[in-house]
Amino acid sequence: MIGIWVLGDQLDPLQAALAAHTPATARVLLIESSSVLQQRRYHRQKLVLVWSAMRHFAAELRQLGWTVDLLEAPTFAEALKDWLAEHEISELHLMEPAERPFREAIERLPLPTPLVWHLSNAFLWSRDDFGAWAAPYKQLRMELFYREGRKRFGVLMGDDGQPLGGQWNYDQENRKAPPKGLVGPEPLVFASDAITRAVIAKVDQLAQELEAASEPGLPGISAPFGWAVTRSQALAVLEHFIDTRLDGFGPFQDAMVSGQPTLWHALLSPCLNIGLLQPLEVIRRLEQAGLERGTPLACLEGVIRQILGWREYTHGLYWWFGADYPARNHFGANRPLPGWLEQLGGSGMACMDTVLAELELNGYAHHIQRLMVLANYGLIAGLDPQAFTAWFHRMFVDGYDWVMQTNVLGMGLFADGGMLASKPYAASGNYINRMSSYCKGCRYNPKQRTGADACPFNALYWDFLARNQEGLRRNHRMGLVMKQLEKIPADELAAIRATASAH
Ligand code: SF4
Repeated sequence: MIGIWVLGDQLDPLQAALAAHTPATARVLLIESSSVLQQRRYHRQKLVLVWSAMRHFAAELRQLGWTVDLLEAPTFAEALKDWLAEHEISELHLMEPAERPFREAIERLPLPTPLVWHLSNAFLWSRDDFGAWAAPYKQLRMELFYREGRKRFGVLMGDDGQPLGGQWNYDQENRKAPPKGLVGPEPLVFASDAITRAVIAKVDQLAQELEAASEPGLPGISAPFGWAVTRSQALAVLEHFIDTRLDGFGPFQDAMVSGQPTLWHALLSPCLNIGLLQPLEVIRRLEQAGLERGTPLACLEGVIRQILGWREYTHGLYWWFGADYPARNHFGANRPLPGWLEQLGGSGMACMDTVLAELELNGYAHHIQRLMVLANYGLIAGLDPQAFTAWFHRMFVDGYDWVMQTNVLGMGLFADGGMLASKPYAASGNYINRMSSYCKGCRYNPKQRTGADACPFNALYWDFLARNQEGLRRNHRMGLVMKQLEKIPADELAAIRATASAH
């Protein structure tokens, strides 16, 4: 008998290993292993999402005629050993994992049965196709990759081979600061069914056992839980986005508002990253619906760029950059993570504590909160990039190694020295003050850069530029700000740096 092991982020009946077989010739295995918690203390919402979605997926596969075993086990190895023997499995088939460490861990398992890998079909670009595209370039840039994707998959293209509307990218129109009282549409959330409630109880029980053993518990709260855990719910999230947010997706993409954790963001990444939705079906549906309803092109192109461009690009780069990428530390940053990151609150900074409080509830923060509050702080404060990337991986419902290495280590922390981004995304409190409502409720002053009331982002920003000035001067995109740094009188810079050292 052929065995197919389906991983927790491969919950698609058409994934490559399932598509290569039929219910008559193969038996399917899913494993819920609590050993993952020994390596990473995942946010409770993430555990509930993945384990509940796995249980629902097992039920859906059974309805399609598959024989499915879902095992709860302390380790993958233990579950596999018994299952392979009991069902006389002669070959174990798997679709390649999206994450390199997971593939290596599977290859290290002492299995009595040969492993047969299937090339992943979870992304539009295979690793080989991405490599063939990337190879000729000295410096890779997302915009060129994105244009190639638009042409290759025929998305938002005119009959003349030119981009619809005559422009590839409308990002300039999508950076509006939030006006006072900005309120976004309500997100679609789902009531927990019996399966999800059972998983919530299991996750809370595991957390209690860890705490009883005086070990670190699990971050975040498990309920209320509202994420989609089935394909039909995931499709409902997509349709809800089209109905309520697509037409307004663009303008406030970079805005941050207290009490508005989701604004017009699509909230599709948790569904896409575990296989409940396929990227091309989402792109085609968005394109069709957007053109039918006359969605502003800046909004339609903006959301499609996130999926066809950025998502595929960061996954492609993750594999293209190689196994030593995660160890990079361009600035030699080595500060340990402050305790308030693990506790998800208590920094005293209104922007940070707002984002962390939302993260605690949902395991989610939108991209600009991640980039310009969380990662920006990590960059300018010099937090250890490996520790901070691992923190992101644990804390977000859509966090995976392939997501976080490129997005956090590369884009957010510039620890790769510019393999991904052309400059560090460092910003002072001025940016956060302009693009958010957070500063109004903060004990710090976003206009001050020295003294006890100074916004920590201000002091840390100038300190970051000063302590890395030699390297940063070589980056032509940093020319303007490095000139501003030079203009700061020596005694004021010393006061700024003293203020920074208190944070
Ligand atoms: Fe954040 Fe500084 Fe604004 Fe406070 S003043 S919310 S620390 S940016």
